[in-house]
Amino acid sequence: MNTNTVDKPTSPIIPVQLTLDDKFQFRCHKGIACFNKCCENIDIMLTPYDIVRLKNRLGMTAREFIDAYTVDVAMDGHGMPGLKLRTKEGSNACVNLTPEGCGVYSDRPAACRYYALGLVSMRRKDSPVTEDSYFVVREEHCLGHNEPHVQSIRDYRREQGVDEYDEINREWREIVLKKRSSGPTVGQPSQRSLELFFLASYDIEGFREFVSSPAFDEVFDLDPAFKRALAQDEVKLLKFGFRLLKQVLFGEMTIPLKADAREKRLERYRQRKGISLADKAETLANAQDTLYESLGD
Ligand code: SF4
Ligand code: SF4
Repeated sequence: MNTNTVDKPTSPIIPVQLTLDDKFQFRCHKGIACFNKCCENIDIMLTPYDIVRLKNRLGMTAREFIDAYTVDVAMDGHGMPGLKLRTKEGSNACVNLTPEGCGVYSDRPAACRYYALGLVSMRRKDSPVTEDSYFVVREEHCLGHNEPHVQSIRDYRREQGVDEYDEINREWREIVLKKRSSGPTVGQPSQRSLELFFLASYDIEGFREFVSSPAFDEVFDLDPAFKRALAQDEVKLLKFGFRLLKQVLFGEMTIPLKADAREKRLERYRQRKGISLADKAETLANAQDTLYESLGD
């Protein structure tokens, strides 16, 4: 099951762009001769909601799950951190694969749910919205394409539970896509903003702690009821994290700041870093980035 092979010359992707109402022939079931074959050679990028579902399924914290079940990858030339699902020692088989099939089936990642479809999300230049289209992925080992079952992409997505994953991950995917397609025009993100990307995307308990911290409270002006909801609901917290990332990475301001505390904090940060008043104008020009860096001190 390879989810990242769109550009390779030997790509198993059928180059016909499909929409939600298009139909394709495919059925996977336990009695099929190729059962488990797709999980024996994997290359699966994990999304934030994948990690929440899997770590809860396994009774772990996100940090414990990341350490035991994932490997680090860079998602772009700026080192935007990504996580892939780990394989078994000495093989390309998924770490969750058992002789009976997937060991985490009802909480399997979005990429596993999509198979044998590929998703391509594109954002036209200067457009704020991303457009999705679908392709059939036809790998030799997969006999599901020979099964006499035809369904629409919409129905297949629904049956596989993809809709829920996509709805929760949508803004995150937009962030990744925008960061990749904007390249150097948006500039090199600071180390602190990359750390924040990791925290908000993958380490939900760490991010909850960050949002509850006095440092966060000093800068952001959140309604107390909303803060309580964030502390109790991991999906709400994830979505809030995506808003915060859009604010930090692209200056899309949707989370109110406490104006006076912001100034005080920046001033303290400037003093600690030895930035003189003469540099103040330049410092203020970089205030957004500096503000988020100061949160880490
Ligand atoms: S998580 Fe489950 S479905 Fe996905 S590759 Fe691993 S074993 Fe297969
Ligand atoms: S039919 Fe395809 S997706 Fe299903 S088990 Fe076989 S190889 Fe995997």
